Amino acid sequence: MIGVLAVQGDVEAHLGTLAAAGVRAQAVKRVSELASVDGLVFPGGESTTQALLIEAAGLRRPIEEALASGMPALGTCAGLIMLARSIVGGRPDQWSFRALDVTVVRNGFGRQVRSFEADLTVRGLDAKPMRAAFIRAPVITAIGPGVTTLATVPYEFDDGSKRDVDVVVAQGAIVATSFHPELVGDPRLHLLAFASLL
Ligand code: GLN
Repeated sequence: MIGVLAVQGDVEAHLGTLAAAGVRAQAVKRVSELASVDGLVFPGGESTTQALLIEAAGLRRPIEEALASGMPALGTCAGLIMLARSIVGGRPDQWSFRALDVTVVRNGFGRQVRSFEADLTVRGLDAKPMRAAFIRAPVITAIGPGVTTLATVPYEFDDGSKRDVDVVVAQGAIVATSFHPELVGDPRLHLLAFASLL
């Protein structure tokens, strides 16, 4: 059973993607529901709001412990921010689970008007490109030695600099994306993230 953290954000699309792929999934709003899942999706949305609501639901410590004990997880967009070791451009008091050794810049791809889509080649998936929607997405600016890059996207920033940015990364039982794989009807990253359970 895969859980989708359901305090705020893009919960339904993840549940739909998992169900369409034949994976049993349920929303996780409270501690009792966390206990009945084997893996957890951290959806996109607004990481500042999610952080507040996770604490209000008493889920911060239990999720921290589940991640520390190796629970498979998929973090997407704001979910990547929630898992990151370090956040640039967060609110001063913004916390994260620090389970994934990456630095992210919130809204690093620019404002809503700079939202974009791209076709990605993802290591570990078959050759068919994956369509990816980036919506006020975080930019990964540094990864630790234990983190593997599974996909990059070429990007020109507002200051004119161009580089290939990591947009799918993995470390241990965690896979994270700066985009929204749940919006494109393609379950391959979900299946990859939870392969050990399926
Ligand atoms: N900008 C959002 C944040 O900082 C993430 C956007 C998203 O999840 N689409 O949390």
